Amino acid sequence: MRLKNAVVIGGSIAGMLAARVLADRFESVTIVETDQLPLQPEVRKGVPQSPQPHVLLTRGYRILEELFPDIGSEMSAAGAISIDWVREFHSFVQGKWSLSDVAPSDIVSFTCSRPLVEWAIRQRLTEFLQVNFVEKHRAVGLLTNGTQVTGVRMQAIAGDHVDVPANLVVDAAGRRSHTPQWLESLGFNSPKETVVNPFLGYATRRYKQPEGFTDDWKVMLISQEPPDNKRLGYLAKIEGGEWIATLGGYGHDFPPLDNEGFLEFARSLSNPKFYETIKDAEPVSPIIAHRATVNRLRHYEKTLMPQGFVALGDAVCALCPVYGQGMTVSALSAMVLKDWLSHGKLNVSRFQKSLAKSNSIHWTLATALDSRFPTTSGITSKSPNLIGKIFAWYNQQVIASASFDSDLHTLYLEIMQFLKSPLALYHPQVVFRVLKLRSTQQLAKS
Ligand SMILES: Cc1cc2nc3c(=O)[nH]c(=O)nc-3n(C[C@H](O)[C@H](O)[C@H](O)COP(=O)(O)OP(=O)(O)OC[C@H]3O[C@@H](n4cnc5c(N)ncnc54)[C@H](O)[C@@H]3O)c2cc1C
Repeated sequence: MRLKNAVVIGGSIAGMLAARVLADRFESVTIVETDQLPLQPEVRKGVPQSPQPHVLLTRGYRILEELFPDIGSEMSAAGAISIDWVREFHSFVQGKWSLSDVAPSDIVSFTCSRPLVEWAIRQRLTEFLQVNFVEKHRAVGLLTNGTQVTGVRMQAIAGDHVDVPANLVVDAAGRRSHTPQWLESLGFNSPKETVVNPFLGYATRRYKQPEGFTDDWKVMLISQEPPDNKRLGYLAKIEGGEWIATLGGYGHDFPPLDNEGFLEFARSLSNPKFYETIKDAEPVSPIIAHRATVNRLRHYEKTLMPQGFVALGDAVCALCPVYGQGMTVSALSAMVLKDWLSHGKLNVSRFQKSLAKSNSIHWTLATALDSRFPTTSGITSKSPNLIGKIFAWYNQQVIASASFDSDLHTLYLEIMQFLKSPLALYHPQVVFRVLKLRSTQQLAKS
């Protein structure tokens, strides 16, 4: 039996994927969004991160295909470029380039701008007649009946309040969600937060790909090397024959926003290829900074919540963007919501607990990687214990071996693209292979 009304706050990735799932169970799904949504893939105010590069991980892309069959064709028609991450992602890590001369794989997604991903999802979501976007309206509070949320109060950007009744309200308002304050005003506690700040800054500029340019990378990464080398460069081919070029610096080492400083920062990366590639290319955008990169986890799973109300996406778990996880984590959240809705009785605490479980691996990954910089704040134990040191050492051995062993290279990418658990690296056969490869290498060197 279908439930009556659901309201989703926020019409970005998490909100739209939640709405897609709700559309299977509710007669009507209303998405409240502050922005006027563009008809074409365009940057918009409500998503200040939209000019920045957005990696769509293979797991996230596969979920999009599950929710919107053949969305890849739509993305491709709009100019998104298919990428085989095993062969066409060239990363320079620990002083070595990743393998690329390897067999084609099925670890595939698209490289394109963030607005294109969002636009493609929106196009497909509008096919669901029960889903209705209310644009240029801001959600300003929850309506309740004791401990049950019964709807949302919204305010037109230039106008009056309107109350929308709902059997279920979903907060997908991103990093600027007001749920903690709303809960307090209703007499509930706001959730405890864990905050880990890497003080990472991005600077991004688009370039026109030069005529006749040939190279076999579609995405290039010159990686940071903690703890001393805080700088990274990310360059990706995107739609419209453009490149999106991003420089990043940890621990307040923010990349400059003028042309000369930008190129100088690029030149300081641990490999010259990024600089050599962009230095004579024609810029087609200003340089745009983004510094809101803090990891923030709101523990709704430990908070007493009103019934009829859940939160997901960046509103719950916002991650440092360097590891490209956010959109995929939102897609996984939508799958948690789907599973929860299929269980009949909608117990909010059960949803937030399942979501916390789904988010935990991504949170651990991002914060563990960020904690390798001593400048990162919010890490509970600054000095890793012996086990932590062994794990860090082993991880370095895996990366070093993956630079010449194609099976390990593929396994590493499967993990980074969320197709396998990081625990796969600790399978005895894998540990044995890594240690054997490393000792053979050491012997060959001596
Ligand atoms: C610099 C940067 C780079 C990133 N790079 C990547 C990447 O490479 N790969 C990746 O997967 N992820 C990346 N992310 C993360 C990604 O942007 C988010 O995880 C993803 O957009 C999902 O977020 P969301 O939908 O929860 O929130 P958002 O995308 O922030 O959207 C929130 C929406 O809610 C609306 N809204 C807010 N308040 C209200 C209100 N009161 N009423 C109505 N509407 C409201 C906003 O207008 C907006 O549309 C990056 C993030 C940053 C900051």
